[in-house]
Amino acid sequence: MSTTPEASARALFTELTGAEPAGVWSSPGRVNLIGEHTDYNDGFVFPFAIEHRTFVALGTRADDRIRVASTFDSEVVEVALSDLVFPALRDEVPEWATYPLGVAWALLQGRDAVTTGVDLAIASDVPVGAGLSSSAAIEGAVASALNDTWGLGLDRVALAQIGRTAENEAVGAPTGIMDQMTSMLGRADAAIFLDCRSLDAEVVDLGFAAAGLELLVIDTQVKHSHSTGGYRERRASCELGASTMGVPALRDLTVDDLPRAEELLDDVTFRRVRHVVTEDQRVLDTVRTLREQGPEAIGDLLVASHASMRDDFEISVPELDTAVEAALSAGAVGARMTGGGFGGAAIALVAHDRAEAVRDAVTSAFTASGFHAPHIFTVTPSEGARRDS
Ligand code: ADP
Ligand code: MG
Repeated sequence: MSTTPEASARALFTELTGAEPAGVWSSPGRVNLIGEHTDYNDGFVFPFAIEHRTFVALGTRADDRIRVASTFDSEVVEVALSDLVFPALRDEVPEWATYPLGVAWALLQGRDAVTTGVDLAIASDVPVGAGLSSSAAIEGAVASALNDTWGLGLDRVALAQIGRTAENEAVGAPTGIMDQMTSMLGRADAAIFLDCRSLDAEVVDLGFAAAGLELLVIDTQVKHSHSTGGYRERRASCELGASTMGVPALRDLTVDDLPRAEELLDDVTFRRVRHVVTEDQRVLDTVRTLREQGPEAIGDLLVASHASMRDDFEISVPELDTAVEAALSAGAVGARMTGGGFGGAAIALVAHDRAEAVRDAVTSAFTASGFHAPHIFTVTPSEGARRDS
C-alpha cells in the first residue's frame, strides 16, 4: 500500500517528537490554465488548484522555538521565534526551510505577543520545480496551520499575501501572488479568475468532466528556478516597458496601445510587452468563452498563449514546444506551457478518449528528440487550503 502525504507528514511528526500532532493542514499545488507572467504586471490570471497537496502536521511546544522537518530533506531546522529574522536567516538555513520559516516570520511581524513554539512536519505529493507551485502549497499549508494555532484570524486572501511575502522577502524569489491565491481559494471543478491588482477573485466553473475532457500535465522534468536569471530579466523588461509607456503596470495597456509601444520600445522590450498585453486579453477571452461556449472552445486561446510565450516572451524550451506540438497533433483540444517557463510543465486539454493517444504521442516525440522521458498525469481541479484533521 502506498502511503499518502498526509500519513507521511504524521509519521514524520511522530518520528520528530514522539507524539501525535495536534492537527494536520494542507494546501494544493496549482496549474495555470492561462495568463502567464501577467500576475506581477497587475493583470489577469486563470489558474486552478490541483489534487496534489502539501501537508503540515503541527504540534505546539512548551518553549518559544520553531522546528521544521520535511520528507524533502533529512535536515531538521530549529530556531527561536525571537531569532526568526529575514532576510538575515536566509543564508543560515537550507533553502527549503526558508519557505516554512519565512511564512512564520511573515505572520509574526508586528505580533510580538505570539510566543507559542511549534513543531512542523511537512510532506507533499506536489512535484517540486515542475511549475505546479509546490512553493505556494507549502506556504499555504504552513500559513493555515500557524494562523489557526496562533489564533491570528487572518482570512484566505491575507494568508495568500503572507505566502507571497515569505517567498519574496524570506526566500528571495520575486514572484507574484497568483500561486498563493489559487492554493488558498481553489474549488473543485472550477478555476479562479483573478485580478492581480485588486485581488478580486471569481470562481468560474470549468465543466471539464461534464464535457468529456481531462487536463493532462506533461512534466518535462527540466528544472526551473524562480530565484535566478530569466525570470528576473523578464520582470525587468516589463517594468521598463511600463515606465516607457507611462503607465503604472502593463495591465494598464490594451492591444490598441501596441502600435505606439512598437514605436517607443526596443524590439525585445516590445515583444515582452506584447506578450503580456495579449495574454491579459486571452485570459478575458477564455473566461468569456468558457461561460458562453464551454471548455471545448478554449483550445485556440491556449495554443495562442503558447506561441506568444515561445516567440515573444521567449520562455519556452524545446521540451515544452515538443510536448505542445505532439499533443496537438494527436488531437488535443489545446495545449500550452504553464508556469514561469524555462522548463517545468505543459498542459493539454484532451477528450477522455484521446488521452491515451496524446500521452503516447508526447512520449514518442520525446524519445525521438532524445529528451528525458516526461512524466504525464491528469490533474483534477480541486479545493484549496484546508484543515484535514
Ligand atoms: P515550484 O513552486 O514550481 O515547485 P519553486 O522553485 O517555486 O518551484 O519552489 C520549489 C522549492 O520549494 C523547493 O526547491 C523547496 O525549497 C521548496 N519546497 C517545496 N515543497 C517542499 C516540501 N514538501 N518540503 C520542503 N520544501 C519544499
Ligand atoms: Mg513556486
